[in-house]
Amino acid sequence: MLFIALGATDAVGASCHFLKIDGTGLVLDAGVDPEEGGPASLPRFEIIHDHAGWYVDHAIITHAHHDHIGALPVLIREFPHVQVHMTRATRDLAEFTLPASARLQARKLKEGSSSHEPLFHEKDLEYQSYLYLTHELETPFDVSGLRAETPVTAELYTAGHILGSAGVLLTFEEDGAERRVFYTSDTNLRPQTIIPGGSYPAPPVDVLILESTLGADPEAEQTTRKQEERKFREALQRILGRGGTALVPVFALGRAQEMLAVIDRFKERGQIPEDVPVYTAGSLRAIADLYDKSRHFTPRRDPDFQVFGVDQKRLPRSNSGKRGALDGPSIHVVSSGMMFERTLSNWIAQQIVDDKDSGILLVGFAKEDTPAARLREAAAAQNGSDMTQEVILDPEKGPQPVKCEVHRFRFSGHSHRRDLIQLVEQLQPKKVLLVHGEAEAREWMEDNIQFFYPDVEVIRPQLGEPLEV
Ligand SMILES: [Zn+2]
Ligand SMILES: [Zn+2]
Repeated sequence: MLFIALGATDAVGASCHFLKIDGTGLVLDAGVDPEEGGPASLPRFEIIHDHAGWYVDHAIITHAHHDHIGALPVLIREFPHVQVHMTRATRDLAEFTLPASARLQARKLKEGSSSHEPLFHEKDLEYQSYLYLTHELETPFDVSGLRAETPVTAELYTAGHILGSAGVLLTFEEDGAERRVFYTSDTNLRPQTIIPGGSYPAPPVDVLILESTLGADPEAEQTTRKQEERKFREALQRILGRGGTALVPVFALGRAQEMLAVIDRFKERGQIPEDVPVYTAGSLRAIADLYDKSRHFTPRRDPDFQVFGVDQKRLPRSNSGKRGALDGPSIHVVSSGMMFERTLSNWIAQQIVDDKDSGILLVGFAKEDTPAARLREAAAAQNGSDMTQEVILDPEKGPQPVKCEVHRFRFSGHSHRRDLIQLVEQLQPKKVLLVHGEAEAREWMEDNIQFFYPDVEVIRPQLGEPLEV
């Protein structure tokens, strides 16, 4: 089997891997790099075009996060005969998130905040969605190419990451022996509040393509969900008790719905007042609706739980309406998670950052130099210092003093690194390909797999490098 990473591997960038198994060409995920815009954000599909006889017969999309699906419309345009496979929930999410992405790209060009032509248009997506083939979990389906000499079978396993997320098991014969390749994609072995932990195939597998997102995060393995929930609850109790505003910046797909479920549980147990309003807005509400509609046919901890069962109000659109919503104790679960400029979470943060009664509760990953990361750093510098620190949430607004409470919590949808090592133990691979992690993260993973399982061959694929595995 030939393996080529078509997206950056030393960053959590565009996830896209090309596999050539005899006459079958397969792509696992087709993501865009969220840090880039335009063509630079795409996987390197030209690597496939540059080789005579290489083709993409099938694409398997593991979940609806943009770093895994955002380039799918371009993949279909470049390889028009490709068959696209995913879970039904991922298709339902994609039918909402891809058109939203097309509209956003068009708007950015129009406003002048981007100079790139949109990678695809909303009208292209209409016919494309008819091409998506959906599959039940743990039910094998054929992904053999037209020129396949041996059949290739795929099977999806729930990944415990977000609604619809799946790992992929590929089974085929090579040189007279059966081979099994498992791609974890983004995975979480442990349950979250809505989504239960991942399921994995029976061991052994030959090749494990393993994510490494939290490989450089020693703190993640030292915290438990229970501890984080307690700290989060206590912070809410303090802020609401003072009559302040609690801002919870979230990613619209996954984190938002999980945090609403956590807040609901606090209300149900009487740990925070039942009548404190919870405000939500934007696409996370549409996505919450998909979480609810799919609750009887996707893995759930409690199929009776509905995100919209959580009493919530739509944040008013006008600035005066929004300001009114900040009056008195309230909880605001809004995106973006990294508090990018011109998003709701950034706007609310600007209003409350200098209010000592309020608080900003960071519950997701924040890349360096994003407003959320700058706020986190300013708050850390504040600790134990008499000087009031300042933060720039939006350059147009300029520096603002940080007087509100700021805390960071770990509610990741990814497994921490010890659990990933545990997965290696469980699946007993001969080879591990480390993907989806920064350089430091993949190095830690490699060192530790090598230390505990010296017989396992560990490879850190580089972008565009062909590997015979
Ligand atoms: Zn993801
Ligand atoms: Zn990802």
